[in-house]
Amino acid sequence: MKLKTDLLANDIVVSRLYRGRFAPSPTGPLHFGSLVAALGSCLDARSRDGEWLVRMEDIDRPRNVPGAADGILATLEAFGFAWDGPVLWQTSRLEAYRAIVDDLKAGGLVYGCACSRREIADSANRPAVDGGLTYPGTCRPGLPPGRVPRAWRLRVDDREMAFVDRLQGRVAQRLERDVGDFVLLRADGEFAYQLAVVADDAWQGITQVVRGADLIDSTPRQIWLQQCLGYDTPEYAHLPVATNRAGEKLSKQTLAPALGAESVASDLVRALRFLGQRPPADLVRAPVAEVWAWALAHWDLAAVPRRRALPIPA
Ligand SMILES: [Zn+2]
Repeated sequence: MKLKTDLLANDIVVSRLYRGRFAPSPTGPLHFGSLVAALGSCLDARSRDGEWLVRMEDIDRPRNVPGAADGILATLEAFGFAWDGPVLWQTSRLEAYRAIVDDLKAGGLVYGCACSRREIADSANRPAVDGGLTYPGTCRPGLPPGRVPRAWRLRVDDREMAFVDRLQGRVAQRLERDVGDFVLLRADGEFAYQLAVVADDAWQGITQVVRGADLIDSTPRQIWLQQCLGYDTPEYAHLPVATNRAGEKLSKQTLAPALGAESVASDLVRALRFLGQRPPADLVRAPVAEVWAWALAHWDLAAVPRRRALPIPA
């Protein structure tokens, strides 16, 4: 299916091209877990004649590792990925993020929060969906005299925010209960991931987000922010996250090995199998272009395991 078509009442067909993206953070080399996300998003886009963009999520500057972004792009190229247009660097978008926060402040949707980490931890609040703590709304009515804002938070409310993930099914949260008002501009002056990703998905016209399920609990917050800003909501498909044998997500912290140029075909085949596809055994010895040709011809999102995490195959 090439286009998503919506039939309007007056029989005008509005076509919406598929536009997807892969958005790595330059915090370390590309590993098997990020290869899975890159491959899943790329195959889903290309198999529907869609566009596929790469965005470097270098917004969290304290976490960026020098040279990691170039390394990721070089590894993607070595694995046969080809993206449309130039790479979008989030650090080139700071003015746009600033303007969005200013608009939300002017509209009363964003307010200054003076709470320290300790104060939030000490207040009587619940664990949040993402493992942190819910924000109890301490600074919502206004800051007490003498206190200055450290971070800027977006107001949420108690209505249910739900979406139907193409893989994981229906996901629903009540943001006030499950997260609390969340930070868009951090105490260290950096823009939060939730703001940057929503701003960029809209600005780049992304229609389909295919990414790791470690981000599924962020999605209701992102949809809420999209609605506050009057943006369209893309469709979402959250792929299972690759874990090591201890059940930990592969990452620099869990010492996930970097991918090398010497095993491209076999790593691609491993990633395809992880995603529930059934490539023939001898594809591991085929040229990379042949692996891609097979993958594009056979990609089936419905075959991807409907799990949020899966152990990495041996
Ligand atoms: Zn506060």
